[in-house]
Amino acid sequence: MVQKTALEYPLGRDLKERIESRGVRTIVYDKRIPVSGEKSFKESYHRGKRTMVLSVWKERGFRTCRPSADYQLPLVSGCPGLCEYCYLNTNLGRRPYVKINVNVEEILRRAGEYVKERRPGSTVFEGAATSDPVAVEGWTGSLRRAVEFFASLDGAGFRFVTKYTDVKGLTGLAHGGKTEIRFSINCDTVLAKYENGIPRLLPRLKAAGACACAGYPVGFLVAPIFYFEGWRGEYERMLRTAAEQLGDKLSTFELITHRFTARSKSIILQAYPDTQVPLDETERVFKFGQFGYGKYVYPPELYAEIREFFSTAIADLFPHARILYFV
Ligand code: SF4
Repeated sequence: MVQKTALEYPLGRDLKERIESRGVRTIVYDKRIPVSGEKSFKESYHRGKRTMVLSVWKERGFRTCRPSADYQLPLVSGCPGLCEYCYLNTNLGRRPYVKINVNVEEILRRAGEYVKERRPGSTVFEGAATSDPVAVEGWTGSLRRAVEFFASLDGAGFRFVTKYTDVKGLTGLAHGGKTEIRFSINCDTVLAKYENGIPRLLPRLKAAGACACAGYPVGFLVAPIFYFEGWRGEYERMLRTAAEQLGDKLSTFELITHRFTARSKSIILQAYPDTQVPLDETERVFKFGQFGYGKYVYPPELYAEIREFFSTAIADLFPHARILYFV
């Protein structure tokens, strides 16, 4: 789908041409994305996952992005991956399009204004708050452009997280150490049961190694962490494999335990009716989150057990890495 105004930008025109040259049909729309006649939620959801939308970012400002950064950088939203627990399910709902904002230079200019306003403090932007931008980087080149932009901007930092591995276009860049790339990893059971259509653990670790060798600060996001029979052994194996690949080249860890909202549960059950993602409210405690909606998290005793395990294992296997947060 191509928003008419996206064709006023070189990236919009170029993407449309490249997509059509592969024999894929494009539809140009004016104001609203046309909706096809799918019958069920499931059909609509999966069609949305396979639909790329070229659009123009027109909001007045960036959204905040705690705890990972100061602001979201709105280059891409959505992701073609099919992780059943995906945190995007709450926000993107019935039609989780992969939306690419083609006015990259305008977005970066706005980012530059934020940095200027907040000096002498520093301003960090998150490129993956509502997407996995590496999934479409081969098409867009937007991350590449952002990495170069922030490299030469005093007081700015950039970070993004991915489960994808197409980092070839990023490893040769002059990034000035200002971009941090985090790779989202998980243990075998979680990968096998809930993650579909995305690279496995080893390719992710190899991509992380390539980025570390290219001088980027590299971190791991372990999310979502599930509590299940045998969880300790599996997560320990994952951390050991990661340590073998990255060792002291790794800078940071971010650790997020599994949680779900009433809305995300409803979406997951409709989009993946056979899912085994644990979504039983009686096994959780209800907590209000920073965005005003409630979520179901692990009870305090399990949470403490998971926290203790990861703190000890990471200190042991990655003595040079810092844990940025555990939630
Ligand atoms: Fe969601 Fe990340 Fe999986 Fe994409 S790769 S579906 S953003 S969890």
